[in-house]
Amino acid sequence: MDNLVIFGPPGAGKGTQAGLLAEKYDLLHISTGDLLRQEVKLQTPVGQRAKAIMDRGDLVGDDIVVPLLDRALRTRSTHPDPDSQDDPWDVHRKGKPRRPEGCIIDGFPRTVAQAQTLEFIFGKLQRKIDLVIAIDLPRDELVRRIHERAAISGRSDDTEDIIRHRIELYDLQTQPVLDYYRVSGLLVSIDGSEQIADTNHRICQAIDARIR
Ligand code: AMP
Repeated sequence: MDNLVIFGPPGAGKGTQAGLLAEKYDLLHISTGDLLRQEVKLQTPVGQRAKAIMDRGDLVGDDIVVPLLDRALRTRSTHPDPDSQDDPWDVHRKGKPRRPEGCIIDGFPRTVAQAQTLEFIFGKLQRKIDLVIAIDLPRDELVRRIHERAAISGRSDDTEDIIRHRIELYDLQTQPVLDYYRVSGLLVSIDGSEQIADTNHRICQAIDARIR
């Protein structure tokens, strides 16, 4: 079972890459941003608390995001209602019969405290992180992509000002998390400035070399 974590500033394409890796390596893709957006869409109490914070581009509190992640890891489904009889996983996996054992976590941890929380949750589940992938690219390329994305994404936190704020937060709060994983030898940095397929190829090479 492989458990991966993927990092990248807004505009780096971490969600896209996480989806491709989930497909290729048969991993459950858990995006805390998607889990939160789902709560907002369903107007749950959690979603109502999270919306204004997300719209500002700030990080929601651990009391909001950690239970969502914990539930997703336990039920091994990104479905918002773990008691539901439906199995959304079959839909997402295009009929593949079994649920994946491993996962790729996208959007968590974003702080060192969250990294420690993730270790704690994984410890309880007798799992461990095998590899941490950080997609990096020059800030001027990020800004170029931000313009593009702000025009088409439709996300309420994708205006240019908000994305710039999210990049600042990433540099401030999330970079220390990368140092945390660098020290433990789990981190691999990937240049994300090329096309999606090139970046994906580099990431796959790193995965195959490290944990396959
Ligand atoms: P993302 O889709 O990963 O870019 O996340 C979108 C937004 O969801 C972020 O800007 C935060 O407001 C919120 N969010 C996602 N993951 C986390 C997290 N681990 N901690 C706090 N806030 C988060």
